[in-house]
Amino acid sequence: MDQIAYVNGSFVPMSEAKVSILDRGFLFADGIYEVAAVLDGKLIDNASHLARLERSVGEISLALPETTGRIQEIQKELIALNNLVNGMVYLEVTRGADTGRDFAFPKGVKPTLVMFTSVKDIINAASAKTGIGVITVPDIRWTRRDIKSVALLAQVLAKQAAAEAGAGEAWMIEDGKVTEGGSSSAFILTQDDVIVTRQNSSAILPGCTRKAVVALAEERQLRVEERPFTVAEALAAKEAFITSATVFVQAVVSIDGKTVANGKPGPMTDRLREIYVEFAKASAV
Ligand code: PLP
Repeated sequence: MDQIAYVNGSFVPMSEAKVSILDRGFLFADGIYEVAAVLDGKLIDNASHLARLERSVGEISLALPETTGRIQEIQKELIALNNLVNGMVYLEVTRGADTGRDFAFPKGVKPTLVMFTSVKDIINAASAKTGIGVITVPDIRWTRRDIKSVALLAQVLAKQAAAEAGAGEAWMIEDGKVTEGGSSSAFILTQDDVIVTRQNSSAILPGCTRKAVVALAEERQLRVEERPFTVAEALAAKEAFITSATVFVQAVVSIDGKTVANGKPGPMTDRLREIYVEFAKASAV
C-alpha cells in the first residue's frame, strides 16, 4: 500500500504528495528539515529535534506554519497512518511557493510543511554490530552549518564518495581537523579514556544525539572533552564512533582504509549505545 505523507494540512498517498516547482525549497534550498527516530511507534528525543527546528527557522527568519505542539501531533498521526513501528519521521519546512523566482523573501506566502516516514530497524542494524568504515573528504560546506538547512549538496557528494569507497560515512575535514560526518557527529575515545567530540559552533550541526550522549556520559562521570580532533588522533584512539538520530551510536572501525584499534566496536561505544537506547526509550512520546 502507498505510504501516507503530510503536505500543507493534508494526509495524502505518497504518489499524490506534491509541491510547486516554484517552491523556494526546490529553487533555493530555502528551507529547514528535521529527522526524528521512531522506536515501537514512538518519537525519540523529539523535544530536542523540535527545539532545534525552532532555532534553525529563527536563524533564517522563517515562521513555522504550525506550532511545534501541532507539528508533534502531525508526526504522531503520520506514524499511526503508516503503521510505523521502527524508523524515522522526516519533516521539512520551506519559505513556500512564490509566483516567480525572486531571491528576496516573498510577502504573504505561506511556508510549505511536508512530512513522510520511512522504515528502519535502528536497534538491530547489522552495522551496529560490525561498525562502519569512514572516508575523509574536505569540508566544502557553507559557514552556517549550525542551521539544519536542506542545502545538502556537499554532504550528497561526500556520502556518494563514501558509498563508492564501500564506506558507511564521510568525515569532513577543515583546517586539518574533523568537523563532523556527512549526516552524523564524530567522536573518539582517547588512550586515556577521554571521550572527545568537537564543540558546538557554526562549524557543525548541534546534533541532538550528540547532545544526549555527552549529557549521559557526563552524568556517569565519564570524561568528556569538547574540542576538534585530527584524523591522526582518531587513528591512534582506543575507539571512534558516530552519533545521529538514525544510527544512535555506531562504531567507526576504519578511516580511509586504516584500522582503528582492533577493527571492532569497542566497549565504550557499545556501552554508550546501550545507555543511549535506554534514554531513547525513556524519552519516547
Ligand atoms: N551532523 C550533520 C551534518 C547531520 O546532518 C546530522 C544528522 O542528520 C548530525 C550531525 C546528527 O544530528 P542528530 O543527532 O540530531 O541526528
